[in-house]
Amino acid sequence: MNAAQLSLDNIERFGEYPSTWFEDRSYTNVQLYHYACRFAETLRQHGVKSGDGVVVMMLNSPAVNAAFIAIWKLGAVIIPVTPMWNAREVHYVLEDSGASFAITSPELAARLKEASSELPNFREVLCIGESADATNIEAEIEASTEFTPLIEREASDLAMLLYTSGTTGNPKGVMLSHDNMIFVADALYERNASVGPIRSLSVLPMSHVYGVLMMNLGYRMGNSSTILKHFDAGKVLSLIESFKVQRLAFVPTMLTMLINHPDREKYDYSSLETVGTGGAPLAESTRLEFERLFHCKVKQGYGLSETAGALTTYYPDEDYRVGSVGRAMIGFEICAMDFSNQILPAGETGELCTRGRHVMLGYLNKPEATRDTIIDGWLHTGDIGHVDADGYVFITDRKKELVIKGGENISPREIEEGLYAHPAIAEAAVFGIPDEIFGENLAAAVVLRAGHSLTEDELKSFIGGYVTKFKVPAKIIFMDALPKGPSGKILKRAIRDQVVSD
Ligand code: AMP
Repeated sequence: MNAAQLSLDNIERFGEYPSTWFEDRSYTNVQLYHYACRFAETLRQHGVKSGDGVVVMMLNSPAVNAAFIAIWKLGAVIIPVTPMWNAREVHYVLEDSGASFAITSPELAARLKEASSELPNFREVLCIGESADATNIEAEIEASTEFTPLIEREASDLAMLLYTSGTTGNPKGVMLSHDNMIFVADALYERNASVGPIRSLSVLPMSHVYGVLMMNLGYRMGNSSTILKHFDAGKVLSLIESFKVQRLAFVPTMLTMLINHPDREKYDYSSLETVGTGGAPLAESTRLEFERLFHCKVKQGYGLSETAGALTTYYPDEDYRVGSVGRAMIGFEICAMDFSNQILPAGETGELCTRGRHVMLGYLNKPEATRDTIIDGWLHTGDIGHVDADGYVFITDRKKELVIKGGENISPREIEEGLYAHPAIAEAAVFGIPDEIFGENLAAAVVLRAGHSLTEDELKSFIGGYVTKFKVPAKIIFMDALPKGPSGKILKRAIRDQVVSD
């Protein structure tokens, strides 16, 4: 079992078809597979072998997809790294993972060279394009033979090391096996098989598990996709029309950006059927507004790096249950547990836990963190929520984001829902700040929609009509934009640090 087989199965099942568009070129699935094979042979010539860790740090492009298949073919381990990280952060990943190679593009090569200096295990920075700081392998790939054997892997062999940031300390390397990758792609395919091959856009970063899962799902469904280097709301709007996009996979902030984009009324979106969102909470008012403006369905899914991506979703024709992220996929168990790790009855709120073949192998070099997270086979997600009697999952909050004001647990999400319901609010984040009297209090950061104005007092009084007075944020700050992580998630910690230090 080798996850590289996903791309071969795609050809076997669908034959040759135009699968990928990027900038001014298109490629068939067979052309891309041959590219991946030549890529694998080039990596092999440079010394990449089974079990080696290979960092891929690039903006999205067909080369990234080919690099992933090439690394898997050789039995090596993909270590995707976001191009947003600086040399110190990348150095940490290289050191912790013991990676021996990195693949990058010219604009990032200098950073990788700096990050990889003085690491005894590290061998070479390889570059797709010309750079003074790395070995350009473009011509070698072009000239390589297409026949590199696919190395057999055991189900539990490591396929990917994904670094995710927790609330404290350095990022943790989530170890995902070949079985994790294939099992989750197949489960998501089972959910979506009835809609057949579709046209889509690849805008999620391939350095995030959600982007990787969408690539794998595309192989299974036989999809055609236009790859965008990174998310650009204006480009997405025009491409929905020109590429006749049917389905999109987004994080919630992307919906907000499309809703608020000045070009929104310029294009025809009649091809668009469904937008799936995940990775962060989606405010119900945003969902409804997107559906109204774009005449499509918006449905939430839920997943973690630690579960190789998706955990719960909806079937395409399944009715949306307001506030729910859908039901666990086939073969996935999910429940809420109390703080003594006992499974709670349907409807009761606790920590969401999951069990099955999608659960990661553990965190690299962090046995204690692994033991705290996987208990008796159940992965503890750190998310608070409940599962209703029909199996629909509801997430109330992140365990660590709950604000405890004067002993009362308050869910920031409830207040965020209220803020998003105000017509002048484009983006909102609610979080806890230290408070002398209550221990903790609530604060909010908001971004206004273009052309709107609002005072802090006006917004407080609006929220006072939505939640009890006790839950009205003590402080609300107005920002031009909320800071976001590589996958588009709002970085509450960074905002809170700024508010607290002001
Ligand atoms: P990551 O490993 O970066 O994908 O982050 C996983 C975390 O994202 C989960 O533990 C949740 O806290 C959050 N998350 C993912 N999907 C959703 C969703 N639909 N609603 C709320 N939170 C979500």
